Amino acid sequence: MTQTAEPAPVIRAPRGSQKTAKGWIQEAAKRMLMNNLDPEVAEHPETLVVYGGRGKAARNWPAFHKIVETLDRLDNDETLLIQSGKPVAVLKTHEWAPRVLLANSNLVPHWANWETFDQLDQAGLTMYGQMTAGSWIYIGTQGILQGTYETFAGAARKHFGGSLKGTITVTAGLGGMGGAQPLAVKLAGGVSITIEIDPTRIQKRLDTRYLDEVADNLDDAIRRAEGYKAQGVARSIGVPGNAAELVPQLVAMNWTPDLITDQTSAHDPMWGYLPPVRADEDAARLRAEQPEEYRRRAYEAMAAHVRAILTLQARGAVAFDYGNNLRQRAFEAGVEDAFAYPGFVPAFIRDSFCEGRGPFRWVALSGDPEDIYATDRALLALFPQDERLQSWLTYAADQIAFQGLPARICWLGYKERDRAALLFNEMVADGRLKAPIVIGRDHLDAGSVASPYRETEAMKDGSDAISDWPLLNFGLGIASGAAWMSFHHGGGVGLGFSQHSGLVALADGTEDAARRLSRCLTNDPGMGVIRHADAGYDLALDVARERGLDLPSLGI
Ligand code: NAD
Repeated sequence: MTQTAEPAPVIRAPRGSQKTAKGWIQEAAKRMLMNNLDPEVAEHPETLVVYGGRGKAARNWPAFHKIVETLDRLDNDETLLIQSGKPVAVLKTHEWAPRVLLANSNLVPHWANWETFDQLDQAGLTMYGQMTAGSWIYIGTQGILQGTYETFAGAARKHFGGSLKGTITVTAGLGGMGGAQPLAVKLAGGVSITIEIDPTRIQKRLDTRYLDEVADNLDDAIRRAEGYKAQGVARSIGVPGNAAELVPQLVAMNWTPDLITDQTSAHDPMWGYLPPVRADEDAARLRAEQPEEYRRRAYEAMAAHVRAILTLQARGAVAFDYGNNLRQRAFEAGVEDAFAYPGFVPAFIRDSFCEGRGPFRWVALSGDPEDIYATDRALLALFPQDERLQSWLTYAADQIAFQGLPARICWLGYKERDRAALLFNEMVADGRLKAPIVIGRDHLDAGSVASPYRETEAMKDGSDAISDWPLLNFGLGIASGAAWMSFHHGGGVGLGFSQHSGLVALADGTEDAARRLSRCLTNDPGMGVIRHADAGYDLALDVARERGLDLPSLGI
């Protein structure tokens, strides 16, 4: 990872309705970049790491400061180009163009692997952008909470009669994304045990109410979990330890959970997944001094972890991969049947994608939580029939601790996101909101990603690895009025395994914003419907017909 000698500043985005940039889009981009690095938001702000292993917001501190400075001078008909976290050019474009275009971690396919990336990263030439880290729309763990809830609720519908009440889920990883798991399982009614190697991560999730309690060891965790299960109580338990040791220990103890998954950073064998080390060894030193030995141990650990998951599956647990490429790593380490359990998208999420439904998020630039509560109420009134949205927004308003700028997420689909965005724009215009609202989404969305072990796993027509779709999505966002657009490689599952695009739009209350919002927030989720209709999903074909898409090759 590229480091700088400069001491790391503590970053917090400006709040309020006064801007220093020449337009609200530039101001929004600046505040969102800064918000990504707010200590409340980022996992390791001092090294510009936001979440997801080493997903960064800017290449290094000089690049960060240069981006901020450039956004403040950027005219309303100019576009700033960001190449893997470094501002490389300002060009004259036009008023309707995005103000920022970002490309992060992209490599020509033949060289698209961690070894090449690491060399280029060490040379200071690139940066790992993950998904929303490098595209400046990460909003903390809440950003993944509803999606994680959708996944566990999907598992409940498919396997447990609609609720996880009376079930125990075992998982690992309490990082930026994985930290949402305990609360999501609880929301779905279940008990969870989450294994985490780093005690500071456990403490962070306790402090932010994503985790209820911590057990002393695995035996203690199981005893507590069985107690809650028997009472039908929803509760989350953390347990310190290494998943590569504790999951096999479950097998040895002959104890089987109802669900088993994992969200350690297995996408990144060198920096993400920590192999067990002896008490007299230092993992960081081992990695620095004997990288090949470290890598070998990480792969061996992931193989042991997956073998144990497979055994628990054979004993009756519902097993699914949670989008971190753990199965592939184990497969590379010789576990031939590593893919015997499915990824979470084909298992529980694909129907939502067929409707263009995915994670829509927004952020109040005022910094005032009241602005988010006002948007919560407005959406509850706008979508009275959507039961999942009604229960989620009611819960979120009551329970979610904001991190950094107040933000909200909810899953909306095609011909829904544009309505929400236009409503927010009206609320800014008539003063119901104190400052503009940034609207964005994860790259993990219906039509924005090609990732054969995650979002596009097991597509009906076998088109899993075709990445024309996220490129079309990137181009379409630019053509439709996005505030900034990004194209990344390697998010979620690691280098060589995914390509994806990110979109951010802005509601500043103007007529121009309304035109931009209505186009880009119709077309962007529309890509999800188009992609799945083209792959032959009946639900997507129905949605395309009913909601008026024009798809010449399908006669629609
Ligand atoms: P993170 O790096 O912030 O957190 C990973 C956590 O795993 C850390 O707390 C680390 O200490 C812990 N860990 C690592 N190895 C361990 C081991 N062997 N045993 C126990 N704990 C271990 O990452 P994150 O943002 O939480 O993301 C986690 C993974 O999930 C990544 O691979 C990411 O790409 C993937 N992801 C999935 C989704 C999804 O929706 N399914 C979304 C985003 C990211």
